[in-house]
Amino acid sequence: MFHHFHDKKSHSKSQGSISEDDLQRLIKFIGRKNILNAEIFYEKLKSGSLKKNEVCFTFDDGIKCQIDVALPVLEDQKIKAFFFAYSSIFEGKPDNLEIFRHFRMNFFKDINDFYKDFYLELNTDLTKFFKINEEAIKLKLEKFPMYSLEDIKFRFVRDFYLTREKYDDLMIKMINKKNIDIKDLYSKLLFSKEDLRTLDKLGHLIGLHSHSHPTKLERLDFNSQKKEYDQSSEIISKILDKDKNEINCMSHPSGSYNKDTLKILKDMGIGIGFKQVMKIEPEKGMSKINNSNLEIAREDHINIIKNMEK
Ligand SMILES: [Zn+2]
Repeated sequence: MFHHFHDKKSHSKSQGSISEDDLQRLIKFIGRKNILNAEIFYEKLKSGSLKKNEVCFTFDDGIKCQIDVALPVLEDQKIKAFFFAYSSIFEGKPDNLEIFRHFRMNFFKDINDFYKDFYLELNTDLTKFFKINEEAIKLKLEKFPMYSLEDIKFRFVRDFYLTREKYDDLMIKMINKKNIDIKDLYSKLLFSKEDLRTLDKLGHLIGLHSHSHPTKLERLDFNSQKKEYDQSSEIISKILDKDKNEINCMSHPSGSYNKDTLKILKDMGIGIGFKQVMKIEPEKGMSKINNSNLEIAREDHINIIKNMEK
């Protein structure tokens, strides 16, 4: 599972990002012959003939650095991958997730400097909130070893203490204080419709990743979830000039889904869906890893890089 890449030009190094060189080394580490083209991986999954050593590459969130940094490597190595972009990007109303991330990583001395400003702007005593969530924070830290304690605490405040609206307002206030124009950042950071068409023409598989990338999709009711996926299917298929049922792969935004989500996706004819972690999550009704074709486990690229260095 890939997200962010950096280069020496427009994509600066940030939390969890890797370089073109890292990607090349990662391919070597896994072994080129073990990396299947997305279409082949999908076919073999359906027929139950995947071997233990066989993997595929997936790219989430429609982030421009994937086009600028990773795509040339993929093309050079003749690897066809899955790309999952959430569709509000293409409506000129992207989720601010990526923008906020860029802001956090590029306009502060370091991430802790950002957290300091963030809590100043929030201006609330969070002692009680952190106390109540102490155990859950600990669990999250184990589940996502690439994050620091401060990273996890920030995500808890963002996802559970604040509402989405309040978080967005707060961040936009911080951005405005630094005199940055958000719209300028969109084209630099996110896929255009043309990028999506290019990937499709090159033979990569384009799939769904919800419409607005809710941080916790599983907290939405059935109809809201259905709207998220219907809308994304509508938009993506239109951009690619395809039939809706030709878009049949997806990944769960922030790894968030529940039984409703799986039913919605199944009814839509989605045949393959990817999770965010390599762990069994019993609360989601999982009894084993790769519990169903809509729950294929993924390893974060950062964990693979860490393993390479051992
Ligand atoms: Zn995502």
